[in-house]
Amino acid sequence: MKPIGCHCFSIRAILLVIFLFSSPIPNALAAPDDTNSIEQRLSPAEAARRFLNAYPDFLSAYDARTEELIGWDGARFPLAAREEINCQKIAITPPCCASSPSFMDSLRIRYRSVSEHWPTGDDPPQAGEDAGRLRPLALWAYMYGAPAARNADGSWRTKKAGKRVELVGGDVEKNLVAVPWKLAGNGAKIRVSRANGVDKQLAAVVAELESINAEAKAQYRHLHGGGKTGVSGFYPRLIPAGDCEISPHTFGVAVDVHWQSGLDYWLASLQRGGYRYHSVMPREIVAIFERHGFIWGGKWRHFDGMHFEYRPELLNMTMPPVGRPGADH
Ligand SMILES: [Zn+2]
Repeated sequence: MKPIGCHCFSIRAILLVIFLFSSPIPNALAAPDDTNSIEQRLSPAEAARRFLNAYPDFLSAYDARTEELIGWDGARFPLAAREEINCQKIAITPPCCASSPSFMDSLRIRYRSVSEHWPTGDDPPQAGEDAGRLRPLALWAYMYGAPAARNADGSWRTKKAGKRVELVGGDVEKNLVAVPWKLAGNGAKIRVSRANGVDKQLAAVVAELESINAEAKAQYRHLHGGGKTGVSGFYPRLIPAGDCEISPHTFGVAVDVHWQSGLDYWLASLQRGGYRYHSVMPREIVAIFERHGFIWGGKWRHFDGMHFEYRPELLNMTMPPVGRPGADH
């Protein structure tokens, strides 16, 4: 875990912030004062417990004296460290350096599961409610693989592909498994990592979805293009909003289940003239994903209604060990 010293800031990120705060509804996405109910102030020991329970194949202990999580090979992850250790330097033009949040940051906002809250246009996620949008990428690179190769200056290697910026030469791909997404009814498959058993959990989601009521199934297929429903998992790239942060799809832990539907994305709603929460995802489907360790992007104020992401620590779940890929067990 070689630290990369970097304090640069993305010009694109600054522009994005300016854009957000100058949108037609200036306070729609700004952090307000009323976030008390969604903010959680976990102790370092409690935060560590969440991560140890969620990722038993990779994390073995917590050192309370130094407030560090300890990996299976002795690697140490300070709970509170931010960009000094985790900053991800990205090779694009202009160069950018997205600071990876700390472990503590990533748990600061509470994820409200389906049983607690179901967001709608009239009752959207609260301002600031983006639980899971902050990700401890140093841990992800350790568990799922490096997101890209490094250039000589230490930056992650990238290439321009149409409107996207893709990451090049990472080693996540060798751990991928293609899981059939039966709900689409068109033979589509989703590639996710087998590290942490993400593939097994997604397969369990698929199996459980077979038992949902016919109405929810029909609703899903109708809303998402019938047999033409697109799905996507692994895709090494930067997040289009800002082109600086590494997308969770890079690590094979994120799933988009109907990418044709632009209605369900916060930025698209702003571009249509103003923030308005909108989702077409059946509630039953989200509940099943949550039961298997995936959070849903439709719960975010910056909503992404097609997006699911493997984050059992945010759901306070204890996951079974499945063995590290390549390890003797
Ligand atoms: Zn996604």
